[in-house]
Amino acid sequence: MSGNTSKPWIPETASPEIKFYNANVVDVEAGDIIQNALVHIKGGRIVEVSSGDAASPLSLPANAVDLKGQYICPGLIDCHVHMTATPGSASLKDMFFASPNSIAYRSAFVAREMLLRGFTTARDTGGADYALRDAIAEGLIMGPRLFIAGKALSQTGGHGDFRAIYQGPEHKCCGGHTPDLARVCNGVPECLEATRDELRQGADFIKIMCGGGVATPSDALDMLQFTAEEIRAITTTAQQSKTYVTAHAYTVEAIRHAVDNGVRGIEHANFINEETAAYCTKLDVVFTPTLVTYHGMSKPPFDKFLDDFSQAKNRQVLASGLEALSILQKAGATICYGSDLLAGLHPLQNQEFSIRSAVLSAKDILKSATVNAARYVGMEGQLGCIKEGALADMLILASNPLEDITVLDRMQEHLVALLKDGRIVFKKSDWLCVDPLYNPCHVQA
Ligand SMILES: [Zn+2]
Repeated sequence: MSGNTSKPWIPETASPEIKFYNANVVDVEAGDIIQNALVHIKGGRIVEVSSGDAASPLSLPANAVDLKGQYICPGLIDCHVHMTATPGSASLKDMFFASPNSIAYRSAFVAREMLLRGFTTARDTGGADYALRDAIAEGLIMGPRLFIAGKALSQTGGHGDFRAIYQGPEHKCCGGHTPDLARVCNGVPECLEATRDELRQGADFIKIMCGGGVATPSDALDMLQFTAEEIRAITTTAQQSKTYVTAHAYTVEAIRHAVDNGVRGIEHANFINEETAAYCTKLDVVFTPTLVTYHGMSKPPFDKFLDDFSQAKNRQVLASGLEALSILQKAGATICYGSDLLAGLHPLQNQEFSIRSAVLSAKDILKSATVNAARYVGMEGQLGCIKEGALADMLILASNPLEDITVLDRMQEHLVALLKDGRIVFKKSDWLCVDPLYNPCHVQA
């Protein structure tokens, strides 16, 4: 019998106490390895990180694990995912017509796979609701801890309006009850209502569409979306709720339109130039490029996923993605890790590490998926680091990701174990046990 009678899936046992010794700790901020370290976890948190004499294996308790020089890396954070854009449909159009129940069950699959790829936290930029976030937090289903936007906000004919051209207002997405990633609002009163309603439903932040996008049927890439008044209504409302707005934007014009009206984060930014990157960096704007999705949709088998109009747009953003990334890096902008994968493309999530390695250092790429992302979701010092007081979300790796970042793109070979909240989710070694929460063989009577 579980201790919690109303929610019996909440684990009865506390996160275990474990001392990992002979570890190489990846200090992402310093871009260095803390050698011969001891990492002590208890109650879901890291309670001690020491090295040298203090990390002596003498007098260690039974729950001590000799890592024999393996690497402890912070759990990864993806800042641009769509948990409810699930596999199970042949095309993007079909994906949006799946039943809400199918989407919910399939999201559980997406969440579990994402966690097993090493992502212990994800920021959902359109689609996931409080129910999915809370189900994962309570241990009902496996997945990364989520920070959610609820539905992204779009104007009619904008990047969140997935209706076919013949479909009229009766098909408009309605207040959070369909599996779409977005909802449509027009004019200041509707934008205020939509923002307040997403916050009412538990959104951690607000996502808006400020310019054209690849996957939608009626918006060109150079289109500007929402008026300045509409964006200001949304950003003011978010600020009043002590949160922020991030915007989908590719072009310089769309990026300026967003940040000049109070937006704090930019998603994608594929057509940014040096001047705008410098301008945004001064304003502390956070960027989340998402190159892997364009790569994935450009090649078989996923090139059939988009229609011809969208495929032509995909070719344009794909061509400029790496250059945008190096412009942002040179400007000193804060960059976060993003993937933006839909439907069957989710398994490509870790390829973003390899793609970015063409222009960024291993340290900077790892920062984008750990410390930068943790700060962005308001969890600095709690996530994205192996430090005393942080949540015990960690990957144990056979190889050093600071030497070769692409090891994170080959988890099958390099991931030895995965912990979330100090519980062992997965392990290859013979030490200790997978936590009962993640092991269905350990059903409690
Ligand atoms: Zn997206």
